[in-house]
Amino acid sequence: MTTERKTIDSALAGATLTGHDAGNIDYRPIAVMPDVRVVKIGGQSVMDRGRAALFPILDEIVAARREGIQVVVLVGGGTRARHIYSIASELEMPVGVMATLGKYIPMQNARMVQMLLAKHGGLYMLPDDFEKLPLYLQLGCVPVMSGMPPFGYWEKREEGSRIPPHRTDAGVFLSAEFLGARRAIFIKDEDGLYTDDPKKDPSAVHIPRISVAELAARNLPDLVVERVVVEYLPRARACKELQIVNGTKPGQVLAALRGEDVGTIIHA
Ligand code: ADP
Ligand code: MG
Repeated sequence: MTTERKTIDSALAGATLTGHDAGNIDYRPIAVMPDVRVVKIGGQSVMDRGRAALFPILDEIVAARREGIQVVVLVGGGTRARHIYSIASELEMPVGVMATLGKYIPMQNARMVQMLLAKHGGLYMLPDDFEKLPLYLQLGCVPVMSGMPPFGYWEKREEGSRIPPHRTDAGVFLSAEFLGARRAIFIKDEDGLYTDDPKKDPSAVHIPRISVAELAARNLPDLVVERVVVEYLPRARACKELQIVNGTKPGQVLAALRGEDVGTIIHA
């Protein structure tokens, strides 16, 4: 006697989802909230510099919000995150443990940013609270969340490293892509991308605009954003640009939030 498989009549009924035809779709997802500005406040580059760096940036975010610009703030980790990475690395922790430990510091930073923004509608948001964003933004709030993507124990390893490759820059890019925002904005402490780390090489030259292909061809010794973000950019459907702006220079953050091409634009 043969047993009959019960199926529900649908396009993928009985499919393994791993066959060659599985990828054969025209992927044009809806843009969930295309007008939202997804912006990262750097951990090492901003938070660790304390109030002198952070307060003026928050003022510009509040000013943008007053102009009706919808902003979602994601926050990085910085030196404290690097500290746990170095200790856990020395203790031979697997990458999944590293990524799990790496969640806590950006969360602490995001909680402090939320408190600082509270009187202007700052609101702490969990990683999968995206469905509440429309309400928060219509109320005029400034949602604040950790930039760390929630891969945790399921983080993938990069060859030759145990540092989680998807850290807070990746979380910002992936959030922008999911929300359908055209740009992911990174507030750091340099004018954008240079030919090398300007802190180590004073002769490094600023690059105002560059494509991912040109960037790959240049094979720069170091980058201002996590490498995976640049790697993913060409595959994005919504988020086609990364913008890196200098939060230590007055007016740059507000200009970026208004959609101006300040800093560096890395495009797909
Ligand atoms: P975040 O605080 O967002 O985590 P990082 O400190 O990880 O930022 O990265 C920003 C830093 O990257 C800059 O402060 C700069 O010193 C360094 N950097 C490395 N390579 C470059 C480059 N090619 N162009 C600009 N900055 C670079
Ligand atoms: Mg970083």
